[in-house]
Amino acid sequence: MLTRNHAKSSIRRSVPVLAVTAMLACSLCYAGSKPTKEKGEFRTNDLVEIVTLDPTIMLDIRYATSNNFTGKALYPEARAFLQREAALALVRVNAKIKKYGYGILVYDAYRPWSVTKKLWQITPQNKKMYVAKPKVGSRHNRGCAIDVSLYDLVTGKPMKMICEYDDMTERAHICYRGGTIDQQKLKYLLIIAMNEEGFMPFSREWWHFDYKGWKRYPVSDMPFSEL
Ligand SMILES: [Zn+2]
Repeated sequence: MLTRNHAKSSIRRSVPVLAVTAMLACSLCYAGSKPTKEKGEFRTNDLVEIVTLDPTIMLDIRYATSNNFTGKALYPEARAFLQREAALALVRVNAKIKKYGYGILVYDAYRPWSVTKKLWQITPQNKKMYVAKPKVGSRHNRGCAIDVSLYDLVTGKPMKMICEYDDMTERAHICYRGGTIDQQKLKYLLIIAMNEEGFMPFSREWWHFDYKGWKRYPVSDMPFSEL
């Protein structure tokens, strides 16, 4: 149930995660051609194309177009992959929000590591807290992070959220209190529905979510064409 009390408790539970995530976002330059090798056991990649599980999940893969903050297309194809358990959780979110009249719209999902490196190089110094440092890679590189919004099931059009995707201002912060009441409601509907299925929100970007257990998957650089 997406009750007001649940909303408060879900957000409260996420606070330590949000703080750690925000700290991880700050970093220094990295010129290596590969991410730092991590120690430990990792699960085998099981990346699945989201729309093969649920074709009613809509795609607007911004990094496959010039309609993103870099002004350049960084992906050769507009496709979205996630680790299977995360993809199945997203399907459950999509089913859940249908009763409110919305569907899930995906801006980005699995991102090859080399694209994370390009993003880092392109992003101005004063905005680097919004992008992952290549040395450690992004949770998107693990196939366990996703950038999503909502679309209207009747019109098929994206909902007007509190700000645009990749808006690098405080309007993107979860705690931003501006915008209209309807926009605030949409933001929290998305956050609560995602959180109930195991996706942790990120304090600086209302659209970004990390799936639980993301550390168990390795940083990958496989292109979409090899998945
Ligand atoms: Zn993201």
